[in-house]
Amino acid sequence: MSAQLIDGKAVAAKLREQVALDAAAFAEQYGRPPGLATILIGDDPASAVYVASKQRSCAEAGIEGFSFNLPADATREQAIATIEEANANPDISGIICQLPVPDHLDGVELTGLVDPLKDVDGLTTTSAGLLALGRPGLRPCTPRGVMMLLDEVGVELEGAEAVVIGRSNLFGKPMGQLLLERSATVTICHSRTKDLAGTCARADVLIAAVGRARMVEANFVKPGAVVIDVGINRVDDVLCGDVDFDAVSKVASAITPVPGGVGPMTIACLLDNTVIAARMAAEQA
Ligand code: NAP
Repeated sequence: MSAQLIDGKAVAAKLREQVALDAAAFAEQYGRPPGLATILIGDDPASAVYVASKQRSCAEAGIEGFSFNLPADATREQAIATIEEANANPDISGIICQLPVPDHLDGVELTGLVDPLKDVDGLTTTSAGLLALGRPGLRPCTPRGVMMLLDEVGVELEGAEAVVIGRSNLFGKPMGQLLLERSATVTICHSRTKDLAGTCARADVLIAAVGRARMVEANFVKPGAVVIDVGINRVDDVLCGDVDFDAVSKVASAITPVPGGVGPMTIACLLDNTVIAARMAAEQA
């Protein structure tokens, strides 16, 4: 079998076009564009690249970008004051506090201080609670993007066996909940899972989010399964996922590449969440 390639770049481009239309409609109706604030603390080069790319994407979508940059030695009080300033600014519809933050700060505490109505990363206790209860709210971008890719290839989730490798708050747990919401039978694996390969081999939909290059080999995959690779790893300066793409694409029915699969969806969903947040806030005002 040679798997269908799930082209995240193309799906994300379509979503970004729609977001630009939605942002323009919002600006027309309310006389101001949706706004996204990025809060970057310290000088981690990868974080600086991510934040710059988010700001560029905002501009392309007609979303106003607000950049808050704090030095690596910023105090907890300064970081909190910055988040509170962004929370209070009515032109800012969404806020992301770029992780990781420097060691002397607590990233969970800081992201938790974002106004839940502006929580476009879906990481606050309120957003996580709304998701757990199946209530409307802002959903984390990467799991949302994965759901869109599964829908794009027409995967029937109801009753399907879905296995997620990874149980992080950022991805694995919300991914499991979104799949459950769509009536998949969900298993979440992690570093203590016994017989990882055997558990994964039951999956109709297998999603890997570990951060270990090419750990998902062909024997993890049931013939015909849909495989989504969330991992981002750098090996000898080349980007690769958690899935051994060459081997698994001979067994799976559809598979995402790395790069060009899940990654582009994350940023497109962040922009979409920003417009959704802008509308939610405007309609509640
Ligand atoms: P994380 O917080 O480090 O979580 C990794 C998870 O993998 C943990 O639950 C861990 O289990 C599990 N794990 C580690 N070794 C394992 C093993 N040998 N067998 C089974 N499970 C194992 O990472 P994350 O934030 O969820 O991100 C995971 C990967 O996705 C990373 O490569 C990250 O860069 C990527 N990512 C990509 C995007 C995107 O936009 N494409 C977005 C988010 C994340 P324990 O809980 O037991 O330790």
